Amino acid sequence: MEAIADRIAGVRARIRSAALSCGRDPESVRLVAVSKTRTPEEIRVAYAAGIRDFGENYVQELDSKASILADLTDLRFHMIGHLQRNKARYAARLASMVHSVHGVELAQELGKRTRDSLVPEARRVPLSVGAGQFGDGAGRLPVLVEVNVGGEFEKSGCRAQELETVLAAVEAEPSLWLRGLMTVPPITETAEGARPFFEELSRLRDSHGGPERLPELSMGMTHDMEVAIRAGATQVRVGTAIFGDRVYRGI
Ligand SMILES: *Cc1c(COP(=O)(O)O)cnc(C)c1O
Repeated sequence: MEAIADRIAGVRARIRSAALSCGRDPESVRLVAVSKTRTPEEIRVAYAAGIRDFGENYVQELDSKASILADLTDLRFHMIGHLQRNKARYAARLASMVHSVHGVELAQELGKRTRDSLVPEARRVPLSVGAGQFGDGAGRLPVLVEVNVGGEFEKSGCRAQELETVLAAVEAEPSLWLRGLMTVPPITETAEGARPFFEELSRLRDSHGGPERLPELSMGMTHDMEVAIRAGATQVRVGTAIFGDRVYRGI
């Protein structure tokens, strides 16, 4: 367990040097610790080491961890996995940010499910762009639109051609707060191999309103976070480098 704190220090050092190497403020990159398949005890260790943002992929797992960890009132769960429309109500209730809005119908369902529930003050995500503010003050749910930049058949995320439609659907929901884009690139042999996909996400941001409309880019994981940061990531989602190799227990 002690290893987790050491690994977090290592990840923070990686983020810092990647940011500095391209002239960015290391504080402009949020670390989201991906805790899928990890125990609540492991999450507590990471929390004690200063992590407040945790990424989960499955709503049932998120639901059970959120109740076990309810005493950590400023812990923020980010929904980063594929979200089915019939599970949107869980994400609306439990997440501080949803990274994986992939279509119009999901945006509408999430909007409907959040209409009467503000994100509680303690769970609001600090802006990695525009320091000092927490959330938008109004308690809308911050969301990112996931783009399948590699165009892979089995991957979640909308296609580039559909992006504007999905963005507009998010903006049409008064209880959602459009914050940016997210992607999971195709698996490549080297971290550098992911660069064109990260750059593509950044180009899509530029061609859809730029940082003013889409300030956040959620991209980069354990093996390619440096490449993502150099391509403009404001949030990296890191699991293995913090918690070690994942063992799937049939979830
Ligand atoms: C699991 C997962 C991660 C973390 O991957 P690591 O390689 O363990 O850092 C990041 N993003 C998403 C969407 C994931 O599902």
